[in-house]
Amino acid sequence: MVERVFNFSPGPAVLPLPVLEEAQRHLLSLPGVGISVLEISHRSKPFEAIMAETKQALVELLGIPSGYQILFLQGGSSLQFSMVPMNLLAGNSADYIVTGSWGQKALEEARKEGEVRAAWDGKADNYNRLPAAGELKLSPTAAYVHVTSNETIQGVQFRDMPKTGNVPLVADLSSDFLSRPVPVEQYGMIYACAQKNAGISGVTVVIVRDELLARSPEKLSSMLDYRVLAKNDSLLNTPPVFAIYILSLITRWLKNDVGGLAKMAKLNDEKAKLLHDVLDESGGFYRGHAKADCRSAMNVTWRLPSEELEATFVKEAKAKKLHELKGHRSVGGIRASIYNAMPIEGVRELRDFMLDFQKRNAR
Ligand code: PMP
Repeated sequence: MVERVFNFSPGPAVLPLPVLEEAQRHLLSLPGVGISVLEISHRSKPFEAIMAETKQALVELLGIPSGYQILFLQGGSSLQFSMVPMNLLAGNSADYIVTGSWGQKALEEARKEGEVRAAWDGKADNYNRLPAAGELKLSPTAAYVHVTSNETIQGVQFRDMPKTGNVPLVADLSSDFLSRPVPVEQYGMIYACAQKNAGISGVTVVIVRDELLARSPEKLSSMLDYRVLAKNDSLLNTPPVFAIYILSLITRWLKNDVGGLAKMAKLNDEKAKLLHDVLDESGGFYRGHAKADCRSAMNVTWRLPSEELEATFVKEAKAKKLHELKGHRSVGGIRASIYNAMPIEGVRELRDFMLDFQKRNAR
């Protein structure tokens, strides 16, 4: 057995061991095909089957109703920051709910494409909370409302999405996609890069309501045009074949090994609670960045009494095989990303290390 540490990286992130093992087992030759998935044509029958299986698995896992297209795109979630306004603004203005660094980036890129505004921005509180009821000023005539489901850097996550009435809700689900059930019918569009919960970097999943495709302007470059990409079933050019293959293995793992997204969410909540409880019961030694009512089950963020202690924490944790715990520089402190594939044993070990570290370092 190869030695592996517990990897708390925010992404690319830990993958389920059975997925890595299957990819390794079949790397030289896909069963019944005799060619590696790294060598296969994207127009071949076996790859068509992988695409079809992956889409069907997403439909089943998420309960995607008819009337939605599933696209596999490149350029990461960052390209969606531009493609969303390019395709969906249609001369109108859009509202952005900014709850952290990624929402801020999405808004900045959208500004280059047309008229957009921040309907709420949590910057004054260093993005440690979500808008309270009544704080949101949404325009009923907006082209769409953009929201970031889980802010990977600050560790702030929506439980229930804001109600937007007839205005389509467009959501960046990059860091909590496939971690819990999602009422897809409440969204106009969802996008998520794969390298957190859905596999490896290279593919971004877009789920978009058919009627929104009519908004894409005629002169838009084909590679940036949802309508053209949908018409060509994401095969307008060579798609990221290997990343789609890994996504197919992830969806199979979620269906067959985990038993669906409700079960996945339950386990993710259980894992997050182990760490949240330590923060809450530490008497202020560990200070969570996000407010308790909106803290993320995916990225748990906290500070220690000093930057020196934070550096020692990261160093000692690494010696205990708990890796990639340093927080993002804009928040500081510690960030533990505990995506789907992080086993609960890894979170228990981190919890035990935190308790011991506090005992040795609290005054
Ligand atoms: N949105 C969120 C919430 C993210 O966490 C990330 C990546 N960490 C991005 C967007 C950008 O994704 P990509 O690097 O695939 O462009």
